[in-house]
Amino acid sequence: MYLASLSWSKAAKIGSGSGGEIVAVLPMGSLEEHGPVGPLGTDHIIPHEIAERIEKRIPDRALILPTLPYGVTPALAGFPGSVDIGYEALCAVLKGCVDAVLRCGVKRFLFLNGHGGNTAGIDTAALYLYHKGGQAAEIDWWVLCGQLRQEWLCGHGGGVETAVAMAIKPDWVHMEDLFESQVIHMSPRLKNTHIHNVEFEGASVKMMRDAADSIPSGDAGYGDSPSRASAALGADILNAVTDYTVKFIEEFSKIDLSAGRKQRNNG
Ligand SMILES: [Zn+2]
Repeated sequence: MYLASLSWSKAAKIGSGSGGEIVAVLPMGSLEEHGPVGPLGTDHIIPHEIAERIEKRIPDRALILPTLPYGVTPALAGFPGSVDIGYEALCAVLKGCVDAVLRCGVKRFLFLNGHGGNTAGIDTAALYLYHKGGQAAEIDWWVLCGQLRQEWLCGHGGGVETAVAMAIKPDWVHMEDLFESQVIHMSPRLKNTHIHNVEFEGASVKMMRDAADSIPSGDAGYGDSPSRASAALGADILNAVTDYTVKFIEEFSKIDLSAGRKQRNNG
């Protein structure tokens, strides 16, 4: 069910059902550049779509919160159209969502995330919920799909993300603007292997800078080219990620939230 569809008096009764418990699901992402062809909304339209599919499959098990379209993305803010709300703002919003569902009697929360920059804020809100007697789970859909299938490993604004965006909003992907990305390495011996990572003598070191200064095209540029995107590929990934997430929510709804805490108190 959708939280936004309920009256406050119905919301007050969500957590009072019998059987397995309800899991609150917050689809969240970012509004930020996604390479030459990807829409700025890529990171939030994808979790939004997955959440809608979850609602259709298990409406009595999942409580879907409105999608949060903004996130933490300071390194991409130099690209036009990108919005960075910062860590503190994200934490404030996430804690507000957690408090709201707790007041409805819901103690299980799934952060369904589309953007890596949000992770620190999600971790903070997840522990905040834990210390109030609840339990959170975090699914980064783009990490999950790379674990489900090796060939679905993806980079920012690359073929996988573009394909999934294409499956959801074909008119929002601008293939006519495609050009090959060029990486500006730190030095001949410090090669960027991802937006913020350089390789030195076989190991990876993180070196933060504005993404526009390392990859002016804004896409990952490390083998996951947006040119390999297709709506069919995106549809397969969406189906697989949704199937996994539905099964996870069903299991999450059954666990005993007091189990680990009892052990800790006894030990
Ligand atoms: Zn993205």
